[in-house]
Amino acid sequence: MHIAVYGCGQLAQMMIQAAKPLGHTASFIREDGEDTVCVKELGPIVLRSELADDTALSAFLADVDVLTVEKEQVNLEFLRRCAKFTEVHPNPSAVEICGDRWKEKSTLKALDIPVTDFFDYAAPPQEPTNSPLGYIAKSCRDGYDGKHQYRVKTWDELAELPLQDVAIGDWIVEAMVPFDFEFSVVGMRDMAGNIAMYPAIENEHVDGILRQSITPSARIPIDLRLQAETYLSRLLDHWNYVGVLTMECFAVNGSMMVNELAPRVHNSGHWSMLNTPASQFENHIRCISNMAIVAPHFMGTRGMLNLVGTDSIPEMAINHPNIAVHLYGKSVRPGRKVGHINVQHDEASEVSALLSQLEKAIY
Ligand code: AMP
Repeated sequence: MHIAVYGCGQLAQMMIQAAKPLGHTASFIREDGEDTVCVKELGPIVLRSELADDTALSAFLADVDVLTVEKEQVNLEFLRRCAKFTEVHPNPSAVEICGDRWKEKSTLKALDIPVTDFFDYAAPPQEPTNSPLGYIAKSCRDGYDGKHQYRVKTWDELAELPLQDVAIGDWIVEAMVPFDFEFSVVGMRDMAGNIAMYPAIENEHVDGILRQSITPSARIPIDLRLQAETYLSRLLDHWNYVGVLTMECFAVNGSMMVNELAPRVHNSGHWSMLNTPASQFENHIRCISNMAIVAPHFMGTRGMLNLVGTDSIPEMAINHPNIAVHLYGKSVRPGRKVGHINVQHDEASEVSALLSQLEKAIY
């Protein structure tokens, strides 16, 4: 099959690296000014603006069996136009909803899935909502890794944010949640409607950016994991979704609420590249190319540490049988994800210890 990926970052890179051994080929669609270094060896790259008319688009997509996306911040009108000429997975409606925090949280609420309390910044409630830890204002679109967000301690400070001109639907405000820890579930659905999930993953963020992940985690009891899996299955079926969908959650007093969804392979699933039957990247490709999901069962524990703003790899990571380094080929800039380090061991305590040693050596 020939797969087109809308986006040229590291997720596109790792999806297509997984697709090639399955016999697939690829091409990529880039935005003006988008860095394409991650995918330059993996297939032809076309500029989206060159596909502006339907003749050019249908000619390009004539050889494409399926198109997928590697990010939420996509041009939806373009994605919908692509769906006229080829299969698009995940479907544009799911991508649209996940790319807009208001629509996403409203959908979760409508499906009876717990979410953080929220309201529209431009249409606040008359009375202050109760939130002892303060509030977080988030742009509904174009926000990821903690970008386009403001945190304030009090209700009155909300009015002082530089957001006076925003319209309804542009920004939401959430109560700050006193979570015990964060976790995510990476699940997938194939074209026949079969669903599978990797075990829930405990995540730690620094400055709004994922720093490290570990799975399975002793902090996620089986009932919490099953609760999260039930919600993710509900979403996958609701959207008739094909591919990987990730749900990021807060664990609060043994219960959970969803923070956000990502309609794609996810940073918190990168550990799945190390010694599992199939990585999230392979399983996503399998789903969208009408192949069966490989059951994501494995023994032992996996962990991942992100390389953010640095590609300095400590000596211990290079010559250790339980550690695998992945660099994406990107240049280093502050706050930029340029690679990750995967860790595996039979013992969870060993994985935690290796992750802390690596983190100390790198940051
Ligand atoms: P987001 O961009 O929504 O994924 O937020 C980035 C990170 O900020 C999350 O992973 C949390 O660590 C933190 N965060 C976001 N929203 C909230 C909230 N309502 N309460 C507490 N922490 C939050």
